[in-house]
Amino acid sequence: MTKSVFIVGAGLGGLATALRLAKKGYKVEIIEKNFQSGGRLNQMKKDGFTFDTGPSFFSMSYEFTDFAKECNITLPFKYYSLDPLYTVSFKKSDKVYHLYKDLKKLAAEFSDVEPDFEAEMKRYLNKSGRLYHDTNVVIKSNYNSLLHYFLTLPRVGPAHIGTLFRSFWNQVSLYFRSNEAREILSLVAFFLGRTPFDTPATYTLLSYTEFMHDGYFNVEGGMYKIVEGIVEELKKENVKITYNTEITDFIAESNKLKYVVDKTGKKWGADIIVINADAAVFRGKVFNRKEFSEEKLDRMEWTMGSLTIYLGINCKLPEIHHHNYYLGTDYREYAGKVYTSANIDETPYYYVNVLSRSNPECAPAGSESLFFVCPVPDLRFKKSWHDKDEIADKIIDDFSKRTKTDIRPHIVSRTIYTPEDWQNQYNLHRGSGLGLSHKMMQIGGFRPKNYDEQFKNVFYTGASTIPGTGLPMVMISSRLTAERILKYKD
Ligand SMILES: Cc1cc2nc3c(=O)[nH]c(=O)nc-3n(C[C@H](O)[C@H](O)[C@H](O)COP(=O)(O)OP(=O)(O)OC[C@H]3O[C@@H](n4cnc5c(N)ncnc54)[C@H](O)[C@@H]3O)c2cc1C
Repeated sequence: MTKSVFIVGAGLGGLATALRLAKKGYKVEIIEKNFQSGGRLNQMKKDGFTFDTGPSFFSMSYEFTDFAKECNITLPFKYYSLDPLYTVSFKKSDKVYHLYKDLKKLAAEFSDVEPDFEAEMKRYLNKSGRLYHDTNVVIKSNYNSLLHYFLTLPRVGPAHIGTLFRSFWNQVSLYFRSNEAREILSLVAFFLGRTPFDTPATYTLLSYTEFMHDGYFNVEGGMYKIVEGIVEELKKENVKITYNTEITDFIAESNKLKYVVDKTGKKWGADIIVINADAAVFRGKVFNRKEFSEEKLDRMEWTMGSLTIYLGINCKLPEIHHHNYYLGTDYREYAGKVYTSANIDETPYYYVNVLSRSNPECAPAGSESLFFVCPVPDLRFKKSWHDKDEIADKIIDDFSKRTKTDIRPHIVSRTIYTPEDWQNQYNLHRGSGLGLSHKMMQIGGFRPKNYDEQFKNVFYTGASTIPGTGLPMVMISSRLTAERILKYKD
């Protein structure tokens, strides 16, 4: 008999799990709190501009192509490689570093500050490559218990034990001497939502995925084409998505979840229920689990809050690349207070994405669609965002100075999301943009599980469960969850 699956949340995790299961013959239905699919991988159309509101690139493209193969479809979007991957500039100088994949070209960028860069980078990438390949087994496995996790860990090999106890920054510092090289190469730790000083060295494997293994990719027409493409495939499989419906309650019968209940009291049921909403928050808020109460969640380690600014400007910025990082003067001091200090006194570090650089259709002719991301404290540490416009103005002024183009008189569209908006739109704890951090005690067997502790017909998928955050990890998560469901016997 055909089994029915009900999925709470139409983020990438929910959509990808839905397609995997629909292709295996399950009858799938999805419910979403917001008015459109995508979750954090979303899009805003405003004043003639199109903005990707969250992710602006992805790595590990093979996770998407493998997904398409496993679902027996043609990948429903087109992506292209970014080179340079990104640019970085420091406040103290006009120099712009271009992060090329070609090591010789890359070394030339650092020739004045790090003369042996090419040889050092080869050694560094050699080690991060070994880390990447050796940890694959841990990242891509389901765990049935902590013991199962501990039995899997030794397969990584003893050569990497040191990286468990070292920070990302210290690992990079073993290979490079200049602050410029150290700061730039450790920036990728911010993509995981923490700083290089509190991110384990194991994650230097990301440098390998950036520069050697695969690279960074953008999607033709903008990142939201990923969502539109998967939703189209779901339509072909008759998967229904209901929007503007938030699950707030449940009805259980012994060790099975019978229904989830929305805000209006309507009951939604199926043989199997998959939660794509944050696995820790949902367990606490909807299932009332004590281990995930608000106080307990507050004591866990969360990734940065996100302040995001979407600007439409009626001029072009031809010299600005697709991805650009603007750093300040004291990296270590900045990293020490970025998550906890409510006083955002100096101009924060920020990232700028020019979506219209490679996708001209995302802005009117002669215009540019800009997206700024700035790591900020979450709502535990900065409760009020009444000063959001002042902070945004500082960033825009700084950007104008550093790019030598005063964009202020050219702004025709301006939208700001604070951690409050991120929290309210997607039920993210205290507005933490990437969810639970990836410290050793919150990954693998320690991360919220992708199966429920109490209800045997409930599973979780997405960035908040294993293996972790970011689009490729979410694709892996959808595979791990689908594998569990395929094995599930009533
Ligand atoms: C500013 C920002 C920039 C980022 N940039 C990148 C990037 O460049 N590259 C990259 O790889 N990753 C990036 N990420 C991370 C990436 O966006 C996430 O890891 C990924 O999108 C998470 O997908 P998900 O399906 O797990 O969760 P979500 O996208 O959060 O989806 C969960 C869905 O569940 C819904 N939901 C929640 N609660 C309920 C409920 N009670 N009832 C019904 N529905 C509910 C939500 O509305 C949401 O649609 C970025 C994130 C942010 C915030």
